[in-house]
Amino acid sequence: SLSDRLTQALANLRNKGRLSPADVDSTVREIRRALLEADVNLDVVKQFTGRIRERALEASASQALNPAQQVVQIVNEELVGILGGQQRRLEFAKRPPTVIMLAGLQGAGKTTLAGKLARWLVKEGHRPLLVAADLQRPNAVTQLQVVGEQAGAAVFAPEPGNGVGNPVRVAKDSMRFATDKQYDVVVIDTAGRLGVDADMMKQAADIRKATDPDEVLFVIDAMIGQDAVTTARAFQDGVDFTGVVLTKLDGDARGGAALSVASVTGRPILFASTGERLEDFEPFYPDRMASRILDLGDILTLIEQAQSAFDEEEARKVAEKFATDSFTLEDFLKQMQQLRNMGSIKKMIGMLPGAKGMREQLDNFDERDIVRTEAIIQSMTRAERLNPKILNGSRRLRIARGSGMTVTDVNQLVQRFEQAAKMMKTVAKGGVPQVPGMGPV
Ligand code: GDP
Repeated sequence: SLSDRLTQALANLRNKGRLSPADVDSTVREIRRALLEADVNLDVVKQFTGRIRERALEASASQALNPAQQVVQIVNEELVGILGGQQRRLEFAKRPPTVIMLAGLQGAGKTTLAGKLARWLVKEGHRPLLVAADLQRPNAVTQLQVVGEQAGAAVFAPEPGNGVGNPVRVAKDSMRFATDKQYDVVVIDTAGRLGVDADMMKQAADIRKATDPDEVLFVIDAMIGQDAVTTARAFQDGVDFTGVVLTKLDGDARGGAALSVASVTGRPILFASTGERLEDFEPFYPDRMASRILDLGDILTLIEQAQSAFDEEEARKVAEKFATDSFTLEDFLKQMQQLRNMGSIKKMIGMLPGAKGMREQLDNFDERDIVRTEAIIQSMTRAERLNPKILNGSRRLRIARGSGMTVTDVNQLVQRFEQAAKMMKTVAKGGVPQVPGMGPV
């Protein structure tokens, strides 16, 4: 993946005390190859590597200390720049309703995004109305109603037999409805085709004209690789948009399309979608994405997710327990149960720094582990949970029997608990945990 290749290219510099122009050239060549393989657009690659080369040569000429770190810094800054620089927030209208129109190819994830946006808007204290103006795809209206319900948002759809086939009218009617019923944000889902097509483009442009949206979000599947740029350009010419939403960033192709689309269209990426569930969605931060691509770890996102899932008071107590060495298996179990609220654990671990080196372990990671862990811990007595040191052979055998696991399973769990407690103790004291196989960059 892009991330692996870039990390590799930069890791080669790690042992260099000083950077020669030849080092710069070979590193830039590696970066170039990594980007091209990740389907980043050629023009973007040229611009990007040109700037990195220039700045890295400067750094090498200045004979600065720790050149590898400097190059990583440069690459990171340039990545952030290409991804749009500053985070751009959604623009809200001064006079509600704010109108957000979604455009993109069929299957890009527009309808799903409408639900995700609605859920997010509700959480932010808004009263969104979803509008079913995708009357092409047979299921689109029903699908929107389903996600609307999940998100706790109202859905405006044409009455059967009334307005069917006229998405522009539906969109227009919805505006009046929103004003009457005091919805403050209107999200309009529009039709897409499998490929770019003149009729679809005209329809989207007509809806745009009729509703004068505050934001037109171009929704693009990050997995479509090189086609992303062509598609984005076609939509920019046909409808134009104010921002981009990347979907399916949970797939393998992370990076390539993201890097190209923002740069080629000059439009910022506002949101990123990372899964099929409504909660797999977050505002897009160029700096965090760059860190993710460079495997610096997306600590900030991780912390935010942790904060929203954990009760803060609870988190404070746990941190204190870690620091004072009084974290028990009972706490461990509680933590594991809370983890479930935090979305996929794999995704979480993927955001930790150096996680690329843990990929193999990740692939072997099975969320059913939690269930097994629960079974084991629940078969322990309170005394055992509070003080795992008393777990002798016969206690372990009893626990194994009680939970339907083997003694080896029990041993492994206890071992893992001890490791985790040790690692968290370091973190709680303000240190950085050592991830196996990863030295500092
Ligand atoms: P639309 O035709 O643009 O409205 O696309 P849909 O919203 O119907 O999405 C097409 C498919 O992509 C559906 O199966 C969604 O569940 C799936 N999907 C949407 N967003 C994501 C995402 O971020 N990650 C993954 N893995 N699947 C997604």
